[in-house]
Amino acid sequence: MTIETAATATASGLCLAGLRKEFRMGRGGVVALDGVDLESREGQFLSLLGPSGCGKSTVLRILAGLDTPSAGTALVHGEPPETARRLHHLGIAFQDSALLPWRSVAGNIRLPLEISGVKVPSSAVADLIGLVGLDGFEKARPAQLSGGMRQRVAIARALVVEPKVLLLDEPMAGVHPALARRIGELLVGLCADGLTILMVEHELAIMDEFCDPVVAMAEGAVLAQGTMSELRQRSDVVEAYLVG
Ligand code: ADP
Ligand code: MG
Repeated sequence: MTIETAATATASGLCLAGLRKEFRMGRGGVVALDGVDLESREGQFLSLLGPSGCGKSTVLRILAGLDTPSAGTALVHGEPPETARRLHHLGIAFQDSALLPWRSVAGNIRLPLEISGVKVPSSAVADLIGLVGLDGFEKARPAQLSGGMRQRVAIARALVVEPKVLLLDEPMAGVHPALARRIGELLVGLCADGLTILMVEHELAIMDEFCDPVVAMAEGAVLAQGTMSELRQRSDVVEAYLVG
């Protein structure tokens, strides 16, 4: 069986098989991913854990269809990432939320569908604003919001396409712990409704409370996958990240 058919046969959520990514740099190259295998089921809240530079964002960018692997397969609910993105099956909120400063909260949330020429009912935008706890801030500009509020706008913007899979790169970075918990609770609720989430996160307390499974990465490969308590039993994982 080829890697591709093995991947297609088993995974209903996210599936990476033998994923390799090399960036060309002058005459040499950087191997960012060196054989990443990962499987999940629909509706799981996965988290990627690992030291800076181990390839977490590269995994997310490939799953988002923003970058192509040098080798191996990536599937999102059985679809190639580019297809999933084109069909709006993917919601993406990456680092430094990148909201448009001149647009209001509501205007930013509408953006992904507006770009595709889809008119978004204002009730749908209002529902999303309520979901992320920003009632009353519809007309605010990003500069008038705290970091945590901007992250929640980015999550609402990712959700406006009604995705099947949500990809989040450090959405809680720089967010007050209490707000991070609110975001965590929001995301767990979305998973209960069938959304699959993959989130890169550093805060162990957040992963302890909300994420299952957690995928521990090191140097471009997956070291272990399991619950946080299972990962804490692994001496190699503890040595790599959980000490100090
Ligand atoms: P992480 O998100 O875990 O911090 P990244 O996925 O951003 O790690 O990066 C993994 C490795 O790939 C790093 O060594 C990084 O420098 C390199 N890398 C990432 N993107 C590029 C790029 N566009 N060009 C060259 N090297 C890159
Ligand atoms: Mg990163």
